[in-house]
Amino acid sequence: MKLTELIQEVLAYNPKADINLIRKAYILAEKAHKGQKREGGEEYFSHPIEVARILINLKADSSTICAALLHDTVEDTNISIEKVKELFDEEIADLVEGLTKFNKIQFETREDYTYENLRKILLATAKDIRVMLIKLADRLHNMRTLKYVAVDKQKRIAKETIEIYAPIAHKLGMWRVKGELEDLSLRFLEPDVYKFLRNKISEKREEREKHTAEIIKEIKKQLLAKQIESDISGRAKYFYSIYKKMKQKNIGFNEIYDLIAVRIIVKTIPDCYSALGLIHDLYKPIPHRFKDYISVPKSNDYQSLHTTVITDKGKILEFQIRTREMHYTAEDGIAAHWRYKGTERDKMFDKKISWLKQLLEWRNLSSTSSEFIETLKIDLFEDEIVVFTPKGDPISLPKESTPVDFAYMVHSSIGDYCSKAMVNNKIMPLDTSLESGDIVEIITNKGAKPSRQWLKFVKTNKARSKIKANLKMEIETTERDDEEETMPADIAKAIQIVGKKAPLKISKCCHPKLYEPIVGFYTKDKKITIHKKTCPNIHALDKNKEVPVLWTEDRKLPVMKISLTLADKVGALARVLNIIASYKINIKNITTKPRKDNVITTMYLEVDNKIKMKDMLNELKKVDAVLNINEIK
Ligand code: MN
Repeated sequence: MKLTELIQEVLAYNPKADINLIRKAYILAEKAHKGQKREGGEEYFSHPIEVARILINLKADSSTICAALLHDTVEDTNISIEKVKELFDEEIADLVEGLTKFNKIQFETREDYTYENLRKILLATAKDIRVMLIKLADRLHNMRTLKYVAVDKQKRIAKETIEIYAPIAHKLGMWRVKGELEDLSLRFLEPDVYKFLRNKISEKREEREKHTAEIIKEIKKQLLAKQIESDISGRAKYFYSIYKKMKQKNIGFNEIYDLIAVRIIVKTIPDCYSALGLIHDLYKPIPHRFKDYISVPKSNDYQSLHTTVITDKGKILEFQIRTREMHYTAEDGIAAHWRYKGTERDKMFDKKISWLKQLLEWRNLSSTSSEFIETLKIDLFEDEIVVFTPKGDPISLPKESTPVDFAYMVHSSIGDYCSKAMVNNKIMPLDTSLESGDIVEIITNKGAKPSRQWLKFVKTNKARSKIKANLKMEIETTERDDEEETMPADIAKAIQIVGKKAPLKISKCCHPKLYEPIVGFYTKDKKITIHKKTCPNIHALDKNKEVPVLWTEDRKLPVMKISLTLADKVGALARVLNIIASYKINIKNITTKPRKDNVITTMYLEVDNKIKMKDMLNELKKVDAVLNINEIK
């Protein structure tokens, strides 16, 4: 692209742009890169131009455009940072220097960037967030031209993009950049998945788009009748977001209905709610899918109303309703702040992002490693935590993971023989929720083996499947043993099966008794094994084989009548009821009779355990407001 065209693009949104400066940067970079070629064979200088254009598209200020044009000069040509400072200014030189440092950071695995490298990124960025914006634009252009690169390098760069840069774009609320980065990464990391989705989505595209167009027309018309001007468009969802949904929910492509999101942009917030009401009038909203991010914005400032409806043709459609300003923030996140205050950079804009503010505060701290680990809690990757082995190796885990997840992540044998866990040098229960920065040590024992209880709290699929595999043999043995046991007649008679009748057997592992909460599972030989609802074994069984079972009658517990004399004080009864509830004792009936100086309360309580009842009564006696307790037999 020629300089004149580039300048025209800038002037189109910023008539006050410093054209001379941009011209100078263009000419200098063009000269410096002369003779250099990219992998695809084209002039190297085409790359900085395209990076600058991505930023122009985000309506960047003049300094950012200059820095984008110059971003590879110090690293790849004979131009020094001093030269940039001399020819331009400190601001631009700082941006270029930040990017040069940034490029020296190499990531091989996810662990690499969580520690030292992430720290470097933060340092480079904390000074000026525009370094990150230029870096994201740089990465986006490299991803767009990745097909010219050798296959192994493609994979490495795509992996780095999806693991590092896309989450950063997400944190900064730059949805368009994030969406494109993710889709391009998917294309190189999972070419088959990408192709499959592309074909699937194009399959009924025409029909889908026609239907959406009709709906848009109708809504627009109805809004106009209410004097609400709107800008409505339908957009196909990003491939990667569809893929993620399929993976997360474990569903097939045909079960994904909302392939298109319809965006309604109106002038004011009241208009947003009016539009929402209108859509709910026209189509049937799907329960629990309505989200009000206008009243409660997301952490990255995103605001919108979301709702999903079933159209008159039975199609499922998602709507996002927002104002123009919210729309810019939604599309470009932090970069949208360029637009608000005229066109030159709003000095306050980075302060709006709390995540960044934390980084800036962190800069004032000395960077000892423990303090740094502390700052990792900033948690760049929302749903993830990073904990450390005693040697300091970082391990990434999903949020709320436990020492058992950690153990299996380190090595299956550590998980299988895990007996105790030390978290930050303290022995902690194996179900402790770990937090970013924790140092975790697993103490193994040859006699230890996975417990069924673990399945209740582990968060990673790896731990879950390893534990299940380990338990599987045991469960099969239990089931075989059971066949020799017969179910006591009174129990068998009292069980009601919801669904198909089948011979019953009682599980050997938990021996449910009459009237205890139970659950049934079909076995391989088409019988039903009855387990206690609390039996840890059932977590290892196939959920699809579960069959609801109930007792034909509720257990009849003995009922006890007590009469309390309570002082006529505010909260006296509440105090009593709280104590009874804390013992999980059921109150069948309660009456209160106010008298002159006190209140008589009579209760019928279900007694399932005499000792528990006695303890409870003793505790009631300690309450000041309880003047007298009378047990009536
Ligand atoms: Mn570059």
